[in-house]
Amino acid sequence: MLQTPTLSAYHPTTAEIDLAAFNENITKLKKLVKKSMLLAVIKTNAYGHGTVRIGEEAVKAGAESLGVTTVEEGALLRENGIDVPIHILSSITPEQASDVVRYELTASVFSIRLAKAISEVAVKQRKTIPVHLKLDTGLHRFGLEPHEVLSFCEVCYELPGLWWEGVYTHFSSVDEGDWETTERQFNLFIDTVTMLDEQGFNFAIRHVGGSTIAIERPDMHLDMVRPGVALFGYQPAARQRDIISLKPVMALKSNLIYVRELPPNTPVGYGGSYVTRTTKKIAVVPIGHGDGYSRALSNKGKMLIGGKRVKIIGTISLDQTLVDVTDVPDVTEGEEVILLGEQGGDEITAEDVADWMGSIVDEVVSGFTERIRRVYV
Ligand SMILES: *Cc1c(COP(=O)(O)O)cnc(C)c1O
Repeated sequence: MLQTPTLSAYHPTTAEIDLAAFNENITKLKKLVKKSMLLAVIKTNAYGHGTVRIGEEAVKAGAESLGVTTVEEGALLRENGIDVPIHILSSITPEQASDVVRYELTASVFSIRLAKAISEVAVKQRKTIPVHLKLDTGLHRFGLEPHEVLSFCEVCYELPGLWWEGVYTHFSSVDEGDWETTERQFNLFIDTVTMLDEQGFNFAIRHVGGSTIAIERPDMHLDMVRPGVALFGYQPAARQRDIISLKPVMALKSNLIYVRELPPNTPVGYGGSYVTRTTKKIAVVPIGHGDGYSRALSNKGKMLIGGKRVKIIGTISLDQTLVDVTDVPDVTEGEEVILLGEQGGDEITAEDVADWMGSIVDEVVSGFTERIRRVYV
C-alpha cells in the first residue's frame, strides 16, 4: 500500500475550493433549467476542483446525475458512496465493460462491439445497465451519424441486460454563439430521434447541451442539461454574464519564498528572457509548469501581492515563477500571493489567466496537478 505522510506544514501553494459558491452556482443553474434534469459534469477531476468532494456537493445541491469521462472517475465516485446515476460521457473500450457493469455506470454507446460487450457482462451479473445512445450531429468527434442509427438499433436495441435509457448529442459551436449551425444540429437530432421513435426505438431521456445551452437556450433543454464549467463559476461566453451571474469556486494562493534585489542589466531565469533595466526587487513564487501553471504565462501573466498587480518576469520553470515586486511596499518573504482570486479590491480570474496564455478557462483550472493541495472551505 502507498503510504501518505502526515506533515506538520505543507507546501504553500494551495487551491481553495469554495463549496458555498459551488452550491450557489448549481442552485442558480437548476433554477434556469426548471423542469429538466441537471447532470453535473465533473470530468477531469471536476475541472481541477476534486472529483469526490465536488461529486458529493453536487448531489447535495440537487444534481440528479453526474457526468465524467473515464471509468476510473466513475468507479472512484461509487467507491466513495455516490449512488446517483453516473454517466461516462466519453467513449470507452469493450474491455472496460465489466467495470461499467460492476459499478453500474451509464455508458455512452455507439459501437456494436461495446453494446455487445456490456450486454454480455450484464447478463452474466444478472443486471440491467442503463446506456445512452450517442449521436454525431456535426462535432465529428464520436457518435453515430444519423444514417447509421437505424441499422445500429436493429442490432443492439433488444440486446439483453441493456436499457436504452437515453439518447444524446453534443454541439460543435455553441460557445461561439453560432446559432445557425447549432439549430441545424438540433433539428437533425430531433428528426433522427423522432424517426427512431416511429420505428419503435424509444429513449426516455434526450439531451443535447452543456453550460451554454443551459444558460441561453431553454428551448433546447429537452429532458436533461449537462453543465460543466458554469458549475465552477465561469460562463463559457462573456455575453452570458447578463443572463446569469456566477461565482468562481477556485482561488489559488501561495506565499513568497524568496525576495532579493537585482542591479540593472541582470538576466533573470532560464535563457535570460528577461533582463532588468533598473534596480529591481524580484520574488520567487513556488509554482511552475510542473504544477500546471502554464509556461505560456512567462513574461505575460500577473499575480496579486500586497494589494498590487505584479508581473511575471522571465521563463516559468517546473517549480518556480519569478515576479517583479519592486513597486510593492515592504514586501517580505512569506507574503501572501494570489494567483486566482481577490486581494485588495482587485481580482484575477481564470478568464484573465486564460487570456494571458491564449487558452480557455477549462484548461486553466483543470490543468492544476495533484501536487497543489485542494483545501475545501
Ligand atoms: C464537457 C462536456 C459537457 C460540459 O460542457 P461545459 O461547456 O463545460 O458546460 C457537456 N456534455 C459533454 C458531452 C461534455 O463532454
